[in-house]
Amino acid sequence: MKGKLALVTGSTSGIGLGIAEVLAQRGVNIVLNGFGDPAEIERLRAGLASRHGVEVEYENADLMKTDEIEALIGRIVERHGAIDILVNNAGIQHVARVENFPVDRWDAVIALNLSAAFHATRCALPAMQQRNWGRIINIASAHGLVASVEKSAYVAAKHGIIGLTKVVALENAKTGITCNAICPGWVLTPLVQKQIDARAAADGISTEQAKLDLVSEKQPSQEFVTPEQLGELAAFLCSPAADQVRGVAWAMDGGWTAQ
Ligand code: NAD
Repeated sequence: MKGKLALVTGSTSGIGLGIAEVLAQRGVNIVLNGFGDPAEIERLRAGLASRHGVEVEYENADLMKTDEIEALIGRIVERHGAIDILVNNAGIQHVARVENFPVDRWDAVIALNLSAAFHATRCALPAMQQRNWGRIINIASAHGLVASVEKSAYVAAKHGIIGLTKVVALENAKTGITCNAICPGWVLTPLVQKQIDARAAADGISTEQAKLDLVSEKQPSQEFVTPEQLGELAAFLCSPAADQVRGVAWAMDGGWTAQ
């Protein structure tokens, strides 16, 4: 893996940052992407590079916009020849019943959690195919395998990305390019913290209690999955041992989808 190049979308925070950290540990050069305070992002970029002795670049493309995704992949391919490892991770959530679901939130969740992965994949594939090597890892969710109320757009996008994963895996099955999905259960990131805070406010309980209630409701282990654990799974999927892992939706969810 040493010397390969990975683009991890949505890697200024949470799971994407955890995956970038573990890949960098393995000697992979990283392109970070996502939003945030520029000084904080520069601190993350420089820290990753110096801790692991790899090259780390940052790209601020807004992945809700098809033209920005095309330009992003185009720039990286021009600079490096190909993206060896593409981790489609950027995602957002919106919680509301279907009859109340704001149409613009539906469009945004589908655009980022599903269509962005399609656009990044279609743009990155030709250069991977020329090298006959590549790894595409889509960060789906337990919600790619099962549903929960009030998450119609998210559940639809995550089920959809697992379908996309299988098609990309099959279309490239006779090549050195694999495509797989990772399905995390609850991970304590800003995306989930928002849901914990909303629950604490709605139920009139402490955030600690809301955190425990949230994780216990779905996840039999009653423990959060960590970004580092997901990073290790991503690193495995990039390794030669995973050459024949193709088109799977691999749960790391504390038992959520075993029920
Ligand atoms: P997070 O909010 O911590 O991070 C999201 C990242 O995406 C950030 O870097 C953010 O800047 C970036 N981002 C947001 N909008 C963007 C845009 N338009 N263009 C580019 N980047 C953008 O979230 P997280 O919990 O780390 O989630 C990462 C992925 O993991 C998502 O796809 C999410 O659905 C999935 N996931 C999360 C959990 C969980 O419990 N946290 C569980 C299962 C799946």
